[in-house]
Amino acid sequence: MLSPPSIPGSILHEIFGYEQFRGPQAAIVDHVIAGGDALVLMPTGGGKSLCYQIPAIARQRAGHGVAVVVSPLIALMHDQVGALHEAGVEAEFLNSTLSGEQANAVEKRMLRGEITLLYAAPERVTTPRFLAQLDSLHERGKLSLFAIDEAHCVSQWGHDFRPEYRALTVLHERYAGVPRIALTATADAITREDILERLQLEDARQFISSFDRPNIRYTIVEKKDATTQLLRFIEREHEGEAGIVYCQSRRRVEEIAQTLSGQGIRALPYHAGLDSEVRQTNQDRFLREDGIVMVATIAFGMGIDKPDVRFVAHLDMPKNIEGYYQETGRAGRDGLPAAAWMGYGLQDVVNQRRMIDESPAGEDFKQVMRGKLDALLALAEATDCRRVRLLGYFGEASTPCGNCDNCLQPPQVWDGTDAARKLLSTIYRVQQQSGISFGAGHVMDIMRGKKTEKVAQFGHERLTTFGIGAEFSEVQLRGVLRQLIATGALAVDGQAFNTLKLTDGSRGVLKGETAVQLRESVSLPADARRRKSAAKAAPAVAAGLTDSGQARFAALKSWRAEVARAHNLPAYVIFHDATLAAIAALAPNSLDDLQGISGIGAKKLEAYGEEVLRVVGGV
Ligand code: ADP
Ligand code: ZN
Repeated sequence: MLSPPSIPGSILHEIFGYEQFRGPQAAIVDHVIAGGDALVLMPTGGGKSLCYQIPAIARQRAGHGVAVVVSPLIALMHDQVGALHEAGVEAEFLNSTLSGEQANAVEKRMLRGEITLLYAAPERVTTPRFLAQLDSLHERGKLSLFAIDEAHCVSQWGHDFRPEYRALTVLHERYAGVPRIALTATADAITREDILERLQLEDARQFISSFDRPNIRYTIVEKKDATTQLLRFIEREHEGEAGIVYCQSRRRVEEIAQTLSGQGIRALPYHAGLDSEVRQTNQDRFLREDGIVMVATIAFGMGIDKPDVRFVAHLDMPKNIEGYYQETGRAGRDGLPAAAWMGYGLQDVVNQRRMIDESPAGEDFKQVMRGKLDALLALAEATDCRRVRLLGYFGEASTPCGNCDNCLQPPQVWDGTDAARKLLSTIYRVQQQSGISFGAGHVMDIMRGKKTEKVAQFGHERLTTFGIGAEFSEVQLRGVLRQLIATGALAVDGQAFNTLKLTDGSRGVLKGETAVQLRESVSLPADARRRKSAAKAAPAVAAGLTDSGQARFAALKSWRAEVARAHNLPAYVIFHDATLAAIAALAPNSLDDLQGISGIGAKKLEAYGEEVLRVVGGV
């Protein structure tokens, strides 16, 4: 055994300023310090970083040398390393943002064993040059561990496949005996198996945390006028707060960023088509300034560990639950109330199905992708607790959460079985009579008995189903269509003008064997009323402070902004809002008073303690 169990605890306390390990952190840390391999599955914001940072520090102290952290995103290594410096830990990164001279200096320090954690991208780690350096460390017993962050990137089933991750098996083959810890926030069963196999971690101990993020409120709304709905959501519930809005295409990102800006919201665009400099500037502003809304494609966000993102909105439906959960997980890392909002409509279902059908991938792959899409569609259509379904998808049983739209305001449900049968038989008759298929609009017109030009042109008013669904509104029928498509009882032919086709799954519905339960469309005003009260219920971090406490909090925030600027780091790297709020509440007089506050480690106490006392004393 390398170390008595108290060592990780004292590192947690002294260096990071935290009282206690969270969930399985303690067990993971002990296991890796003792030299074991681990696969860690923890939701975003669960506290994965400490799971390898503390073992790296402990093993370095015990003479085992440097830990190598494989991280896919160059852009964020700077802030991660900056945060470690603030805590007094020797950390560096090697990536293309360094000059040759700087990189050489880092390599020299690494070879001399002066670095505790070295961050590098997988491309770098597997170069002959870097491997030769690792060889040299390894020969001297100075390679303490490998941490493989965002480990789902190794799997093509994951939503962020990076072929470079495949080459990481070299670490195991070349440095057998050096502990490896792979971490990810997103892995369903099939991805998890794939990670274990690809990284040859079959013998590693698996630590699977609950995926629940209880502070995030999930809401999925039917899209009517998506932009207005989004705008309302932001204005009513998140005015002035930081958030991310995900859109499917670059064009849409630009459009929405402009619309939001036009409404006085500080919104910035982010997508792969922007100049890399613009992208970097926007990302930096999002991280460093308060209350920016980033409108982005999914190119944005991996590794973003800004703790006070208050909402994540999806204006277009993502591809699968893993992606959705990873993206929404970027909200509320600080544990304070946060929201995940998604708009969803018939067009999303059609688009996602078509993208799979038209992709050049093999049929097996498409089958898996369809299954994943179906699970997401079922979530969107659900009339019961969203969280129970989300967690269920990750293999976790739970009870209704009381903090999702369906729990807070159980949707009205209506029995759409009859409407669904009538729709399907209309589609059947039309196809039979005309020998071709038609799109949703025309089918609904026939069913509702509308004498349009097209109806006349094809003689569709003579069909026995003409007008059999006159009692249903178009909104209701759209809901029925969406659900039929979502559940595979009806298909959309993307190759033929999005026409509707019966499937094998249609039979059960036509025969009345499959019941169709539908959400009643919620009217906007009721929706809005609920949201307003929800917004009030969400406490801001400083809400509990007295007036003088608020004044101290404000003074501390402006002091922190100066320090962050001077250090070229995001403000939360200096101190989290929650830490500032705790200081403001306590009104400390001495360094001793400060010491017990969560988030103030020894190095930060030494570096900032006196200044903090001065700021607090000056209010
Ligand atoms: P992940 O990488 O899993 O998304 P992080 O490692 O970024 O999560 O941790 C999320 C937040 O929780 C960070 O701000 C981190 O400092 C904080 N945190 C992690 N572990 C603890 C702990 N034991 N006590 C208090 N705060 C913690
Ligand atoms: Zn719920």
